[in-house]
Amino acid sequence: MKNLFPGKTIYVLGAGASMHTGAPLLNDFLARSRSLVAGNSGLKWKPAFENVLSWVDSLRSPAYYLDLDLDNLEHIFSLIAMMQEVSEPHADEYYSDMSKLVFETLDKECQVQRAGGRYNPDRVYERFAKHVMDSNEERKLSMPQSQDVIVTLNYDVLLDYVFWFAYSGCDYCLTKSRGEGIRLLKLHGSMNWGRHRTCDAEEGKQIQVVRASPIADGHRWISHDEEKSQILPFQMFTHTLYYTKCRGCKKDGVLEPVFIPPTWFKSCREEQIDNVWKQAVEEFKTARQIVIVGYSLPPTDTFLPYLLMLGLANNAGLYRVVVVNPDNRNDLRSRYERMFSRNMSERGRLQFMPIAFEVFVERYLRAISEGAPIEA
Ligand SMILES: [Zn+2]
Repeated sequence: MKNLFPGKTIYVLGAGASMHTGAPLLNDFLARSRSLVAGNSGLKWKPAFENVLSWVDSLRSPAYYLDLDLDNLEHIFSLIAMMQEVSEPHADEYYSDMSKLVFETLDKECQVQRAGGRYNPDRVYERFAKHVMDSNEERKLSMPQSQDVIVTLNYDVLLDYVFWFAYSGCDYCLTKSRGEGIRLLKLHGSMNWGRHRTCDAEEGKQIQVVRASPIADGHRWISHDEEKSQILPFQMFTHTLYYTKCRGCKKDGVLEPVFIPPTWFKSCREEQIDNVWKQAVEEFKTARQIVIVGYSLPPTDTFLPYLLMLGLANNAGLYRVVVVNPDNRNDLRSRYERMFSRNMSERGRLQFMPIAFEVFVERYLRAISEGAPIEA
């Protein structure tokens, strides 16, 4: 690799980047959860699904007056946050059931290939990870400040899985960055960051990072033909996390994922991931290029814009922002154009690529990471 882009690229991944693995988007999440219940798919937390879905259905009649999209995860979480705020009954119960619904739905819908007695990382993420790792390695000596960084808004662990098993791991920066390994900043938390909220021991209340084993041990509950290649659900939440013992009290079945629900509500602040946000702001200060993939920038999401604003306010050398999203409608473009300054779009520094993540990785990743111009 010769023509390396002189500076750091930050890849920001939204739900669209995980879509090829089967992960649902915010606006079709509940529909997917409903079909899991209807399809009798052996849900571990079925009562939680039923409880929360029947509550959502009961909201349909008042929703007739208010045009709220009750299939959108963001609206449901915002409503629950408001209920918690005004101490409505069942608010905490709905919150807990919704969390189970979200993570078990991801468990079932995110799929992974199994062949020859082990699980194989997702191909698209594997290629993506390889590219980032290789170019970081290349620049290690000549440009140590220019290491590329991945920021993600997703909870799933399919990309993490590539780093765990194809490389030596990744640095989540939950505590101060170790300065080694790829930095994978999960701004909204992750389904493998477990915590026992009500643990008697202080240690149990701290985030415990849980990894899935690629070998059958960690997935012993699935019966299958060892020789045949199969596509199977990942089961991080219902099995791997569930059967991991809390560091504090040594019990299993008590760890819950640490995550920020998709809501504009500020009360959902999760203190233990402050470091991840701090690190993200630091990274944006020195970014030369930002590539935002599969993130639709919903009007209610103010989190990423503020985080970007903090980081970019001190950035003297941002060259461009590339938005990769197969949605080629004007409203997506205009949301981005509103977020970034006119200066950026008029000088052609805000660019759009209306393609899916897998196409981007396959055909354009290398060129874009090297700063090549985008063909209109
Ligand atoms: Zn505990």
